[in-house]
Amino acid sequence: MNPNETLPICIAGNWRLGQGDRYASLYPATGEPIAWLNAASIADVEEAISGADHAFRTSGWAQRKPHERAAVLYRVAQLIRERSEYLAQRQRLDNGKPISETRALVASAAGTFQFFAAACETMEDTITPMRGDNLTMSVYEAMGVVAAITPWNSPIASEAQKMAPALAAGNAVVVKPAEVTPLMALELAKICDEAGVPKGLISVLPGKGSVIGDAITVHPLVRRVSFTGGTSTGKHIAHIAADKMMPVSLELGGKSPTMVFEDADLDHAVAGVLYGIFSSSGESCIAGSRLFVARGIYASFIERLAAGAAALRVGDPADERTQLGPLITPRHRDSIESYVATGVADGGQIRTGGTRPSGELFERGNYYLPTIIEGLTNDQRICQEEIFGPVLVAMPFDNEEDLIAQANDSVYALAAGIWTRDYKKAWRFGRAVQAGNVWINTYKQLSISTPFGGWRDSGLGREKGRLGILQYMEQKSMYWGLNEEPLPWAG
Ligand code: NAD
Repeated sequence: MNPNETLPICIAGNWRLGQGDRYASLYPATGEPIAWLNAASIADVEEAISGADHAFRTSGWAQRKPHERAAVLYRVAQLIRERSEYLAQRQRLDNGKPISETRALVASAAGTFQFFAAACETMEDTITPMRGDNLTMSVYEAMGVVAAITPWNSPIASEAQKMAPALAAGNAVVVKPAEVTPLMALELAKICDEAGVPKGLISVLPGKGSVIGDAITVHPLVRRVSFTGGTSTGKHIAHIAADKMMPVSLELGGKSPTMVFEDADLDHAVAGVLYGIFSSSGESCIAGSRLFVARGIYASFIERLAAGAAALRVGDPADERTQLGPLITPRHRDSIESYVATGVADGGQIRTGGTRPSGELFERGNYYLPTIIEGLTNDQRICQEEIFGPVLVAMPFDNEEDLIAQANDSVYALAAGIWTRDYKKAWRFGRAVQAGNVWINTYKQLSISTPFGGWRDSGLGREKGRLGILQYMEQKSMYWGLNEEPLPWAG
């Protein structure tokens, strides 16, 4: 990778320099530029969307038979797999995640294209029961130009999760990656070109969300926005969508509770809680960031957990053994440090972490140690607000009623974890907890074949699953007259 070259961006299939400001994607482990590019300008947005609309109307992509579109998407999956190591290394540089994790994300992106290719070619329209002299059908149509707006924390996976179903459904897609992680969307667009997605159907427009993201969202030719990111941005997009009567899906923030009961398999629970909060350095919407432990085992459990957190390998993302890499930007680390300071000012005690690691390796990167804070109650600020970093707040609970009330006492409702050997209790809590995703005796396991989404401030709509493709289609009912005589009204 040549850090002095300026990367072209993709504007309705034309690869050229953006007309916005030049900026660099920085490696979070060192702060060094790994690629330079020019952001998109408002004129680029206009050109991308009108080009996408033209391609949608003229390329014949939406009219191809589903198995023909699927064949192209299978090729996308294959090309991702062929380039997997290159892509994983590039994503490591773009957002600083450990290489073991970026390899898994690249594999998941390939799986996502494969899955939606299969969903596309096996999707069925339905003939509905006849209630008159009409054959009645429910069919689905592509929408036109749809937008995919993604955050920086899991780029290739988030982008594949939107691009694959949108293309499978027959649409043109305008992708707006996070400003700080533009590279994976550009790589996916290149692969789609090579696999045979018609020219013009894909654009990738890096740049500031408040400028480029907004210009995309308000554009009258954009028929749907699929957004993953912060709750306040999601609400802003929802307002614009209401004005345009445009459907949106919003995958937003979280503050997910994990509950550990006395009868849990504690070896599994310790490992699961550590993975749930500290993998991806806690920069995960589904991070299990609020921990409730039965009072009877609280002290011994936290002791094991703190020892486990202190033993996690924080370090160089290029090292295969690294479990936590640097945080995305210095500014984001500042925000995490400020949350930890708030927790302490509110009476919390730091059980482990609470600081940057020391040593030469860590001097230039945005590192922060896995941190556990105790002594707070669920209503306090750092137990309620999303920190999006490696910070766990731990609290004891005394009874089931109080536990479920606290677990559900959050504006967020994205995920929850339950650790118990009692299957009836698991069922009771699994049903009572308000969350889009519940893990019982495991955590942060995701599958493309299972719907994903949140309740309340964690979002609207569902991605993934076979029906995920329908998010990018409009339903149409068709009545096909079979009557031999004119309608009676006419006579
Ligand atoms: P963000 O909301 O700041 O940005 C997300 C994307 O929206 C970026 O591409 C950004 O440029 C764009 N954007 C910003 N302002 C915009 C505007 N006015 N109009 C249109 N687009 C705009 O979020 P982030 O900091 O990149 O990501 C972190 C957040 O994402 C966290 O809150 C996290 O919980 C959430 N997240 C949610 C999920 C999920 O599936 N629920 C997954 C990953 C991350």
